[in-house]
Amino acid sequence: MRFHSTRDDCSSVDLSTALLAGLAADGGLYVPDSLPSFTPADFAADDSMAAIATRLLTPFFAGDALAGELAAICAEAFDFPLPLKPLADGETWVLELFHGPTAAFKDFGARFLARCMTRLRRSDQPPLTILVATSGDTGAAVAAAFHRLPNLKVVILYPDGRVSPRQAHQLGCFGDNVRAFRVAGSFDDCQSMAKQALADRELQQRVPLSSANSISLGRLLPQMAYYAQASLRHWRRHATPLGFVIPTGNLGNALAAIMARACGLPIGEIALATNANRVLPEFFAGAEYRPRASIATLANAMDVGAPSNFERLGWLYPDAVALRQAFTVHAVDDDEIRRTLVSSHERFGEVFCPHTACAARVLETLREGGASGPFAIVATAHPAKFEQVVEPLLGLAVAPPASLAALLARPATAEPLQPDPAALRERLIAVSG
Ligand SMILES: *Cc1c(COP(=O)(O)O)cnc(C)c1O
Repeated sequence: MRFHSTRDDCSSVDLSTALLAGLAADGGLYVPDSLPSFTPADFAADDSMAAIATRLLTPFFAGDALAGELAAICAEAFDFPLPLKPLADGETWVLELFHGPTAAFKDFGARFLARCMTRLRRSDQPPLTILVATSGDTGAAVAAAFHRLPNLKVVILYPDGRVSPRQAHQLGCFGDNVRAFRVAGSFDDCQSMAKQALADRELQQRVPLSSANSISLGRLLPQMAYYAQASLRHWRRHATPLGFVIPTGNLGNALAAIMARACGLPIGEIALATNANRVLPEFFAGAEYRPRASIATLANAMDVGAPSNFERLGWLYPDAVALRQAFTVHAVDDDEIRRTLVSSHERFGEVFCPHTACAARVLETLREGGASGPFAIVATAHPAKFEQVVEPLLGLAVAPPASLAALLARPATAEPLQPDPAALRERLIAVSG
């Protein structure tokens, strides 16, 4: 399979090139030249997440240098549980994507990308530095995934004082080939510093850099696999397609579900839940696409005013009418998040994270509107990552899962950095030596 930019469908690259580059040279996002077509029967021999992922992703890897490694990459990356838990009403499930090392769904994509990159970097090349700006979960997932991989380094930029104490601890606790910088500025400052460094050719000559943000194909493609696995599991037991309600910020997780459905997996309705950042709900209600500055909410990993994967929607659905019919998008404000956290605990005994609560609220709205049939609420993070929101509301302590507890028990350090591209440049050169 070849891959082209959303801004240019004439020239194409192989998968390895697209994985290493992150963004296409023209500023567009890489997309596959075509989508493979499957039926559930094609997966009859596959049960585990790794086996299903290997079969689903084989056409995307065809002809690439990594093709022969795909099964091993999947086995190494997807070695943790993926529960599809029924709730008491018999028509609702929770797809728990938070059983990886950093307790959020980003572990799937980050681990897959890391296992690809470590195979693409030859030992006679200088180390490749993965530069990530993060508002919390991405940085931790990338750090955990690349930690101690040979010939790869990670530099994390996060806004000092604007991530939760547990998130800050996670970012700073790795050491070895991972360095965390706490930037005296906002997430936008971190992101623009990272972008400038990645675009700085002279710097790249001295310090080879790459990114691992949510536009990377190496994160997007593997995320299709958990939708495949969950929908196939449901299909085998019930012979009906499973719908999904997905907490959404940059559209990475949601796009993977939409692509999996387009590849023929037995997926029903897809509904997206945003927080009070309403760019997508307004667009899907018929307005112009109007990206804007984000506002802060309780579901902070979805505080996005310009969803970075939006350009890929136009590739999947060139027709704007068809696009608006492909799925629905609903906004959930902070009051509704609080109420849903409490009501989900009372009704089902479930403690959700604030992002997952957005999806739970949207499903409630759909049910009130008459939607029947099986749906899975996609749970994107463990509630213990957002204990400051969840614990006072529910009046109980949320114990971190073992993997997260192990990270929190390590010592953590982060170096201070001014929100200045020149300061970052200097540090990158210094730490690369
Ligand atoms: C990143 C994140 C999201 C948003 O995912 P996108 O792919 O950006 O839409 C939702 N919930 C949690 C917990 C996250 O970390």
